[in-house]
Amino acid sequence: MAIEAPSSPFYSPWPDRLRHSAIILLVAGLALAVLVGLDELSPLRASVVFACIAAAALVPWRLHNAVASREDVRGVNPVETAAVSAVVAGMPDPAVLLDRAGRVIHLNAAAAQLAPALRKNELAQFALRSPEIITALREAIATSETRRATYLDHVPVDRWMELIVTPVPVPTLFGGTDKCMLMTFHDQTPLRRVEEMRADFVANASHELRTPLAALSGFIDTLQGPAKEDAKARERFLGIMHTQATRMARLIDDLLSLSRVELSAHVRPDTLVDIVPIIRQVADGLEPLARERQVAIDTDLPDAPVVIAGDREELLRVFENLIENALKYGASGGKVVVSLISAVSGEGVPEFRAIVRDFGPGIAPEHLPRLTERFYRVDVGDSRAQGGTGLGLSLVKHIVNRHRGRLLIESVLKKGATFTACFPQAKPPSGT
Ligand code: ADP
Repeated sequence: MAIEAPSSPFYSPWPDRLRHSAIILLVAGLALAVLVGLDELSPLRASVVFACIAAAALVPWRLHNAVASREDVRGVNPVETAAVSAVVAGMPDPAVLLDRAGRVIHLNAAAAQLAPALRKNELAQFALRSPEIITALREAIATSETRRATYLDHVPVDRWMELIVTPVPVPTLFGGTDKCMLMTFHDQTPLRRVEEMRADFVANASHELRTPLAALSGFIDTLQGPAKEDAKARERFLGIMHTQATRMARLIDDLLSLSRVELSAHVRPDTLVDIVPIIRQVADGLEPLARERQVAIDTDLPDAPVVIAGDREELLRVFENLIENALKYGASGGKVVVSLISAVSGEGVPEFRAIVRDFGPGIAPEHLPRLTERFYRVDVGDSRAQGGTGLGLSLVKHIVNRHRGRLLIESVLKKGATFTACFPQAKPPSGT
């Protein structure tokens, strides 16, 4: 389907046709006059012949003229109208309307931004240059069925777009139908990323579970075989098996907690809780670990209640993870300070900040942005040796987010690390 005037079938240059008819009549009239002048034809016969020629030349023009009047009523090329252009321009996703040859009739700003090589009146195939897309365009026109293809964009960042080519029947001026193609792009990047994350998560989780499981079954084999009668070895192996089983249980606990928190991420807790006793309970509970690691836990907590809208169990997990990490990874500093202060966020929101600070080796700056990713660890071996799962900080971040708070991580190498959980202050009940 050509869409360009004046060669387009949608256009009817009828004045040209009228001119052609007039020329034919003039030439025929002259020829007949010469024949009559030469006495080769009687004037009567010449008049009859002229009348026939005139009818032959003018009737098609009259017919055409009738069609052209319909065009006046209906307007120009139906797909070139401002209305169609406005519809394409108003589509939220990148959209391009093509003629049946693949030439661009309309494109919206989003499409022009996505694929700057696409230009009006030029073939989309040249601009998109993907065999998959070219096949989709060809098949959509040939079969009148929707076709899909993938459009990959790498600048400025990788993006996956699903390209959908929908054949659109359009009326022609002569009462028939022709076909256009509506090509729309749908950004699949977020879905792709989630899918990749899900696949990574499953791979990581099964790897983490498989490691202690392999150790357990190895020791079971040994206890059933070579070490069957060796009481000393049995004692030692059972100890290792216990550690591995605990690790598996902890991993499963963390996974379940994480998915529970994710499921309720959109629901902000609304029970009012005092976080001072929660922090004290956690610090007291971790005293044995602190003694074992020869670390002193200093608490600097207010005497008055510090009330936030929160979930007690989840807040226990936050402080358990932060203080336990400080004791495990920052033990060399010999001291962990846990404090609670009132402050105002950058947006002017009053908040409480629970700060857990250690004086251990600290964390290199390149690791800081990734610490809250699931299974991310600075040193996998060290984390495993400490019984870590790599899920603790991810869980902390999710819980803090659910409480509409923020988790801040600061560290200077060799000087320790500071983890700050910020929670918005609970609004006092109305009327007070
Ligand atoms: P894990 O179960 O491995 O402790 P986390 O998500 O709690 O997992 O922590 C992720 C990683 O962050 C840890 O493996 C450790 O490398 C690092 N990390 C966490 N807290 C500290 C800290 N206080 N000092 C140094 N490194 C830390």
